[in-house]
Amino acid sequence: MEPRETVLRRLADQQFDLLVIGGGITGAGIALDAATRGMRVALVEQSDFAAGTSSRSTKLVHGGVRYLAQRDVALVREALAERDLLLRLAPHLVQPQPFVLPVYRGQHVPGVPAPSIATPLLTSIGLAAYDLLAGRRNLQSHRGLTALGARGLIPSLRTEGLRGAFLYYDARTDDVRLTLAVLQTAVARDAVAANYAEVVGFTARSGRLGGATVRDRIGGGEVTVRATRVVGATGAWSARLAALAAAAVGEGPSQPDGRDGHNGHNGRQAPRGLRLSKGVHLVISRDSVPLGALAVVLPTTTDGRLAFVVPWGTQMLLGTTDTPYDGDPAAVRPEPADVDALLDDANRYLDLGLDRSDVVGAFAGLRPLVQSDAASTATTSREHAVTVAPSGLVSVTGGKLTTYRRMARDTVDAALRAQPGPWGASTTARVPLAGAAGLSARSSAARGVARELGLPTDVATHLVASYGADAPGVLSLVAERPELGRRLVEGQPYLAAEIVYGVRHEGAQRLDDVLQRRTRLALEVSDGAASSAATVAELLGAELGWDEETRRRAVADYRAEAEAARAAWATVPEAAVRAGTARAHAR
Ligand code: FAD
Repeated sequence: MEPRETVLRRLADQQFDLLVIGGGITGAGIALDAATRGMRVALVEQSDFAAGTSSRSTKLVHGGVRYLAQRDVALVREALAERDLLLRLAPHLVQPQPFVLPVYRGQHVPGVPAPSIATPLLTSIGLAAYDLLAGRRNLQSHRGLTALGARGLIPSLRTEGLRGAFLYYDARTDDVRLTLAVLQTAVARDAVAANYAEVVGFTARSGRLGGATVRDRIGGGEVTVRATRVVGATGAWSARLAALAAAAVGEGPSQPDGRDGHNGHNGRQAPRGLRLSKGVHLVISRDSVPLGALAVVLPTTTDGRLAFVVPWGTQMLLGTTDTPYDGDPAAVRPEPADVDALLDDANRYLDLGLDRSDVVGAFAGLRPLVQSDAASTATTSREHAVTVAPSGLVSVTGGKLTTYRRMARDTVDAALRAQPGPWGASTTARVPLAGAAGLSARSSAARGVARELGLPTDVATHLVASYGADAPGVLSLVAERPELGRRLVEGQPYLAAEIVYGVRHEGAQRLDDVLQRRTRLALEVSDGAASSAATVAELLGAELGWDEETRRRAVADYRAEAEAARAAWATVPEAAVRAGTARAHAR
């Protein structure tokens, strides 16, 4: 990515064909789609790229077996087609993942009103349909396992009532790195992408948006970005953006709760209503959950859904919860009750006696779900909707990480229908993502260089999985400055060089950009990487020209935030303690 001064100057100086607001996977996908059609594109993100929901997912690139149970066949087929494409367009970032789905006596298929005796048959039919919908390029087909076979694969699986299991395949990724790769691919096609650039207002003429006022949240100040088309991909923040746009053209209050038809690609309405659903994940130490390379489906949670335990980086992910949320999107946090619910779910199926001491980290995200009449957020469709407001603001909401490319295509199509231009159809189905071109030759070269530099195998594997064909770029920093070849935290594969690379090539500006997102150290070590903050601030500060005071403040702020984030879920709230004490007195 370009240096920040260049990015801000281009934002102020250029006239764009499309301005994208929101730097999650959806906004990144839209920027790439439009840039590959030849449009002049700007993208602005109020926080860091992928800092919203796009860093807080289960990290699965999947058709979604549970959507089959909801008979959402079109969504599953679409998502499986995208899974196949992503396995080819970003093979370093998207990899096949085997799942074991156990079946217990008395277990129902969530959402299917059939007796539990039919569960193995229904699951088998569902997985056969999943394989079929994936088509010719399916990953390996599913197979059934006896209870003994299942225990052979996962010795910790509870035996009581175990009738058997199924082994099936999906794919996993790192959501942040996927978002960054999509953005970098767009930037390579001349898109301008700025993080810490918040849209605080719009410019308008004759009732139509002509650009936006963007606040620089690092340096202060504002720039006016001029654009013929404006697209909002702000996920959980969509209603706020719609209100700003409506105010700019005097539309009166926006109608974030207005209902319109499904998948209204052409609808000229205000953005349809969103329901927000909070999803919490726990990061559990691999030593506590020894599943090797396998993921496990927890077939029924206490609130009747599926949950997953999935290998991720050096640890395991356990998630997710699904509860309605109506607070400030920026303030969403895991709470002690979420942690306990997830541990209970895991302990129902895995004989591991997990408790809070096994939890390394926790994070919460918000599903921006398209409004429906479904009784609970867990059964609301993940389909996306694209709407065009009278102001010209094109908004896209809903969807999945997996289907970002189609959402992007539909959004740019809608923007071009609303305001036509000379550009052709989407070509992103044929555009490899950054780090994919020449992957096999460059990754074996990278492994060779890593060996010569004395770097261990786990580090080389991590670099290739994260940066793909661009891994030599990180290694060349180590070749220039051997001290950058040290691990940031013992036992973790992340190198000091990645911090420097994160600033120079991935737009990192703050400590949490590199500790939470460019690396995932903040989640993979139990102190939230607070003890590495000072070392990392040295590296970051040297690149960004921080003075001593800025560095000191950055470290203090980071440590305070890491502590507060952990305290939010790790400690029992005072009110609960008081209630417990009162109960004890009453007894
Ligand atoms: P976001 O990533 O939230 O991006 C919106 C961005 O807009 C934010 O970064 C925000 O800061 C920015 N913004 C807001 N207002 C402004 C403004 N005024 N100016 C500038 N920027 C602004 N999908 C899958 O396919 N697989 C999964 O395994 C999966 N698991 C999930 C698990 C959970 C718990 C959740 C919550 C979702 C999951 N999803 C999954 C869905 C997927 O993560 C989301 O659909 C996707 O990340 C949404 O991306 P987005 O870009 O639309 O939103």
